[in-house]
Amino acid sequence: MSLIQVLQNQAVTLAVVCGLVGLIVGSFLNVVIHRLPKMLEREWDGQAADLLEQKDQVEVARKLRAGIAQRYNLLTPASNCPHCGHKIRAYENIPVVSYLFLRGRCASCKAPISMRYPIVEAISGILAAYIGWRFGLTLAMAGALVFAWSLIALTVIDIDTQLLPDDITLPLLWLGLLVNLNTGFTPLGRRLSVTLDGVLAVQTHHRQGGHGLRRFQTAWRHRCMARMEAAARRHIDVLAGGRNRRHRLDRIHPARPQYADSIWTLSCRRRIDCVVLGRNDQPDLSAVVLSMGFVVGLTGGIGSGKTTVAELFASRGAGLVDTDEIAHRLTAPAQPAIAEIMRRFGPRFVAADGSLDRAQMRELVFADPSARKDLEAILHPLIRQESARQIRESTAPYVVIVIPLLFESGAPRRGMDRILVVDCEPEAQISRVIARSGLSRDQVLSIIASQVSRQERLRGADDVVHNDDDLDALEAQVIPLHVRYLGLAKNG
Ligand SMILES: [Zn+2]
Repeated sequence: MSLIQVLQNQAVTLAVVCGLVGLIVGSFLNVVIHRLPKMLEREWDGQAADLLEQKDQVEVARKLRAGIAQRYNLLTPASNCPHCGHKIRAYENIPVVSYLFLRGRCASCKAPISMRYPIVEAISGILAAYIGWRFGLTLAMAGALVFAWSLIALTVIDIDTQLLPDDITLPLLWLGLLVNLNTGFTPLGRRLSVTLDGVLAVQTHHRQGGHGLRRFQTAWRHRCMARMEAAARRHIDVLAGGRNRRHRLDRIHPARPQYADSIWTLSCRRRIDCVVLGRNDQPDLSAVVLSMGFVVGLTGGIGSGKTTVAELFASRGAGLVDTDEIAHRLTAPAQPAIAEIMRRFGPRFVAADGSLDRAQMRELVFADPSARKDLEAILHPLIRQESARQIRESTAPYVVIVIPLLFESGAPRRGMDRILVVDCEPEAQISRVIARSGLSRDQVLSIIASQVSRQERLRGADDVVHNDDDLDALEAQVIPLHVRYLGLAKNG
């Protein structure tokens, strides 16, 4: 009997062979899990360095390149102990066995090795053994193995980094459909068409261009897939003429705000962040944002230069939503909010031109918390609605939303994929605000005191831009972040 015949006829032998292969693959998966996100980051740094060189920011580009000079892929450099640099020898790399033999410690420096390595190897081996036993030596077995291994890698990478690298997901998606054509994991025909339509509908969504899987996840989160499937069942000719329907689907998936806790600034004349609005009990924007691709929340203290930074991102192609500007527009003459404000607070708070009298209102809400709450109740839902609309309609690969008082809210992180803080020295902050607003130094200081501290803001930041220098220095920081956000949006 040949080896193939043995494997075909003896389920247990096949399971054992699969299990052993699974252990070895598991060891390789550990490498993929550890290195693939780093490889992505290096790729982004390389792109950022190219862009910076075009901008004559040679010094910054050189630093970025220095960080990625060493070759780095799944095979090189050889694995070593992160503590002592000890090169891991072949016999120390036997799946599970080596870990047990070394009692979970580096052979050289005795630093503990994460339990995760043997666990990933064991899961990979056990799953592979089961798949071999369950499917026998068939194409279905091969497909199931690739699927299981990919999912293990994706799961752990997702837990670590919240990334689902396109390098794995996209081939897997299409490979899955191909394997299905020949193995019948799922009945051919209608169901597969539905799947295909779902995938395509998501991939050709307005925010496309590599964001397919992210769309898929968010669509799933919002139970849109059910609707897509229903739509697809009505039109079995899914692949032809799907376009219009997809657009319609787009529209029947309205933003549904759900949760509370957010703070907005009431924008004042000449763009001062007035610390007017506090917590509220209204549904908030971030729940809406969840369904809308990659969103970067940009915040910073008064006078830190949020708008300048936001505009630098926008000039490179990011979508820009400015809640300050929205608040300002909502309280312009003849806006619905004005009628509401008039009804609740009286005509004293509406200026001669029909817009909100900001000075009066500021005084009132500083003195009277219940007035503040009422004002928030009028403005917040409108600001959220408008922000959500702008984000939804953006065709940019990712959106930067400027929320001056992000950290003053109860749940700054909700709905944001990244939080970017614009930071600067307090003195620079003070002189900028005085220059543009004519407020006194004391007034500026009291506004700064009413916002969260600089330390607190920096603690909550994923990324920080330091705005103490000129525009070139700012751009040198913005470009690498922009490239990173593009990559995260694509692979998120
Ligand atoms: Zn070591």
